[in-house]
Amino acid sequence: MQTSFKDKVALVTGGGGGIGRATVLAFARAGARVVVADIAADAGQETVALVQAAGGEASFIRTDVTQADQVQAMVAHTVAAYGRLDCAFNNAGIEEEHLRLADCSEATFDRIMGINVKGVWLCLKYQLAQMQQQGGGAIVNTASVAGLVGAPKMAAYSASKHAVLGLTKSAAIEYARKGIRVNAVCPGVIRTAMYERAVAADPQIGVAAAQMHPLGRLGEVDEVAAVVLWLSSDAASFVTGHAHTVDGGLTAV
Ligand code: NAD
Repeated sequence: MQTSFKDKVALVTGGGGGIGRATVLAFARAGARVVVADIAADAGQETVALVQAAGGEASFIRTDVTQADQVQAMVAHTVAAYGRLDCAFNNAGIEEEHLRLADCSEATFDRIMGINVKGVWLCLKYQLAQMQQQGGGAIVNTASVAGLVGAPKMAAYSASKHAVLGLTKSAAIEYARKGIRVNAVCPGVIRTAMYERAVAADPQIGVAAAQMHPLGRLGEVDEVAAVVLWLSSDAASFVTGHAHTVDGGLTAV
């Protein structure tokens, strides 16, 4: 059964593609008004057009999640456009080239930490302030199975996603009595542009990825969106500080 998000306002970072776009569309189908934030303006505006073509309501704000002033403006835009912020999905993130740790450059490490960790921290900072002022809300952050276990040739990425879980759990505890729930999703390998880039760089990844999951296939973006909506909904009213896998059984092995 699909939970209704009628009269709710949702914000999705990285909403221009992949998991973010699928989640924007799912929130809009469920009745939410949605703010799409992305560093890529064309992609973000395309997501808004898809929502509108399906009869939903959405607006775009170009946001680089590593920049405090832009993240603050993103939350302010949401409140100015729709009056409040009920659900936030902090999903913008990047992968790294598949290199052993000693071959990863300092610049790559800093870039991954800047977007995947500082970006989520900045989003939480301004969203929690707004939600506290309103009296509640629900936040979901995108971590990864690489936030739960080590990931060979992805050490910086894995460290960044472990950090997302640290932020998620700490914020969940701090803001539980303020009516704000904070959870994370930990996807396995999901068929998105990020996955296609990895396969283009190393075709072996494509062969191995599907077989890694006990379900014997890749995950689809809608399968992640469904879990994000559930975690954001009142159906998950006693769930906070949780890292929810969407991994076809990968971390059960
Ligand atoms: P994607 O590359 O298809 O989409 C990511 C989006 O984030 C893009 O639209 C991009 O423009 C945006 N973005 C990048 N940097 C940004 C910034 N600084 N500010 C704002 N937006 C920015 O990737 P995806 O596969 O949909 O991944 C989404 C999230 O899911 C990421 O956090 C990723 O780490 C995580 N994840 C993906 C997989 C997978 O297999 N695809 C698995 C586990 C976790």
